Amino acid sequence: MNEKKGKVIIIVAPSGTGKSTLLKMIFEDFPDLLWSVSTTTRPKRPGEIEGKDYFYVSKDHFEKMIKHNEFVEWAKVHGNYYGTSRSYLSKAINDGKLIVCDLDVQGTDAMIQNFPDHTKAIFIEPPSIDTLRERLRKRATDNTGVINTRLNNAKSELLRKHDFHYLVRNDDLDSAYKILKSIFCEIMEK
Ligand code: ADP
Ligand code: 5GP
Repeated sequence: MNEKKGKVIIIVAPSGTGKSTLLKMIFEDFPDLLWSVSTTTRPKRPGEIEGKDYFYVSKDHFEKMIKHNEFVEWAKVHGNYYGTSRSYLSKAINDGKLIVCDLDVQGTDAMIQNFPDHTKAIFIEPPSIDTLRERLRKRATDNTGVINTRLNNAKSELLRKHDFHYLVRNDDLDSAYKILKSIFCEIMEK
């Protein structure tokens, strides 16, 4: 397999930082990018669409997929499984596509290890933990227990913020987007 052509851009950030918001803007400006749809055991949120946001499977099904080596990377995040399809990603890289993934830090590490020459990771940081809490509350998609788990995990994820290729602070949305867009342009030009 020739895996020289494609590129993988990973967005990594604590839950609630604004990844989905920023990525929506990116896909409006760059409609040719390919979104890597992950598989998860997390329950579907209102408004999410099977096959567009995630492939939703049971824990048993996910564990069978792990056994059959169907993931290029997978991780347990906030108590649920999440994974990236090996066949989908390898084919996309082989076809020379520019693929965008939203992964946690474990998945990002694994992807950089698996595809070191093809992967660039952008860490998005929130202005503060208090702002993150506010954003998660306002989003109103998770109960208090889930929000607290996500905030606790955010503290350890933030310790890794300098370990990737780029770091963007999502304080003012438009300013953060401008920087993110310029990073995408830089990666695409190389
Ligand atoms: P993530 O995908 O990282 O979990 P979301 O994109 O769902 O986060 O954003 C979480 C919440 O914060 C959403 O309600 C979103 O509208 C809001 N948000 C995102 N970026 C900003 C920002 N720069 N300033 C204020 N609110 C923001
Ligand atoms: P959410 O439940 O908010 O959609 O995602 C929770 C976390 O799981 C986020 O940090 C997100 O980046 C991460 N995530 C989503 N898909 C994958 C995946 O395929 N692999 C890994 N390792 N993490 C993922």
